[in-house]
Amino acid sequence: MKNEVLFLGTGTSQGVPIIGCDCPVCCSDNKKDNRLRASLLIKINFFNILIDIGPDFRSQMLQANNSKVNSILITHKHRDHTAGLDDLRPIYYLNKKPIDIYGEDKVLESINNDFKYLFDGPDYPGKPKINLNTISNNSFFINDIKITPIRVMHHKLPIFGYRIGDLSYITDAKYISNSEKNKIKGSKVLIINSLQRESHISHYNLQESLELINEINPQTAYLTHISHNMGLHNDVQKELPANVFLAYDQLSITI
Ligand SMILES: [Zn+2]
Ligand SMILES: [Zn+2]
Repeated sequence: MKNEVLFLGTGTSQGVPIIGCDCPVCCSDNKKDNRLRASLLIKINFFNILIDIGPDFRSQMLQANNSKVNSILITHKHRDHTAGLDDLRPIYYLNKKPIDIYGEDKVLESINNDFKYLFDGPDYPGKPKINLNTISNNSFFINDIKITPIRVMHHKLPIFGYRIGDLSYITDAKYISNSEKNKIKGSKVLIINSLQRESHISHYNLQESLELINEINPQTAYLTHISHNMGLHNDVQKELPANVFLAYDQLSITI
C-alpha cells in the first residue's frame, strides 16, 4: 500500500513572508514562495502521523482539508515546532480518540509547562485527551509502524529526526554524527532542512544539505525549513540536482 506524505509547512521559524519584509521572496505571487512553519503529515493505511505541530497547525489542517491526527512526533521544544498544540481540540472532539505525542523527556517537560491546562487538573468538556509518551534514542513502534529516532545537533541542542520505513525526516540540523547518519542510509526519500545559502550557526545551509544528500544518496530528497534568504522557489529549483526538490507547502508525495 502506498503511503502519502504531505508537507504542511516548509518555512523556517518566522515563516515566509516575514511580517514587514518587502524582499522579492516575501512579495512573490507564487504560492510556492509562501511557507508556513515546518511540519509533515504522514498517512500510513489511514493512520495519520504528524511530525511537529507549529503555530500554523490550524491553517495547515484547513488547507489540507484534513481533520485526523492519531500520533505526533516532536523533533524539539522550539515554539515553531510545538506552538499549535491547543488546536488539537477540534481533532479530538471529532475523532474522540486520545492523541499520542512522542518526544524525549526534556521536550515533553517543555510542552507540559507551556500547555499546563491541557494536562493538569480535572477533566472538563472541551479538554482534549493527549497522552505524552517519552522516547529515547531507540526505535519504537506505533501500532506496527517502526519509528527510528535520529539524533542530530541543532547548534548545541540535541534534537531528533525520524526514520519511518523508507522515509527520513530531519529538520533543524547543523551536525549529524557518522553513527546517526548510518540510520538514515538506505532511505529512498530524505527530507532535510536547508535554511539559506549563507552559513548559519544552527541550521544547514544549501551546500551542507546537498553534501548530506550526496553522502546518503537517496532516490529523491526534499529541502525544507526554508528562509526567505534562500531565494525564489523557481530560481532555486533550477539549480538543484535532478533528484533534489525544494519542498513547498501542501506538496504531496507517495512512498
Ligand atoms: Zn525550527
Ligand atoms: Zn523577505
